Amino acid sequence: MDNIKQEDIEDICFNVSQNIILPKFKNLSEDEINYKNGSDLVTAADIEAEKELKKNLLKILPTSNFIGEEEYSRNENILNFYNEDAYCWTVDPIDGTTNFANGRDKFAIMIALTFKEKILRSWIYKPLDKIMCSAIVNEGAYINNNKIITKEANIIEETIGSISTKYWEPGFKERLKIFKNIFKEVNSYRCIGFEYIDIGIGIRNFAILSKLSPWDHIPGILFVREAGGADIDFDKNKYDFTKKNKNLIVSNSEDLNLKILEKLGEYS
Ligand SMILES: [Mg+2]
Repeated sequence: MDNIKQEDIEDICFNVSQNIILPKFKNLSEDEINYKNGSDLVTAADIEAEKELKKNLLKILPTSNFIGEEEYSRNENILNFYNEDAYCWTVDPIDGTTNFANGRDKFAIMIALTFKEKILRSWIYKPLDKIMCSAIVNEGAYINNNKIITKEANIIEETIGSISTKYWEPGFKERLKIFKNIFKEVNSYRCIGFEYIDIGIGIRNFAILSKLSPWDHIPGILFVREAGGADIDFDKNKYDFTKKNKNLIVSNSEDLNLKILEKLGEYS
């Protein structure tokens, strides 16, 4: 893992965004926007970017495996790579595809490097701002080269975050309308990478998540953990991308996670 240079990953992300992603921003033809699995958007830029990321990341670690969001939509078996005794890249070529396809500015390239169930490193790159957010396990979280530490928030009524309810039980969705009101503000960026970054910095406080596709969450989870934040699933376990767990709370602190979980219990 020591032979992975931060500059190499930065170069790869910069080149993919300059050559593939940004030229298509506000410039997609109708036939370049499609739907996969019925409802999720995918554009020509997602597919091209993933191919290029795969090619370059595998060059850095020739014996590693690769799991990409777009490849997964064609072959779900690639998740078995997580069980192998090998390094594995997990990539979301464009997080926030709906924003990207609609000309809105919150979208990111997300990359994680894992070995079995361990998250080792991650990168979230903002193409429009050319900002690299990254994390190294047991070392820290960084924005460009500056180490960041989250700000703790412990009073639920003062917190801002998002609640994804896409896959929740219909009955709970109803109760959620009331549950939402205990927070200061509930809104979504429609780009989970950006939310993870802002939770890491401490300018947002929490995200209650469902449908945990590994490419959506591994990079941000490491970033938030290394910034001093925490994650917990509804059974009080830490996020484990090798297991199918449906719901997760991520926030600035363990304490806030437990408070949110307790409140959720009152409304379930
Ligand atoms: Mg994506």
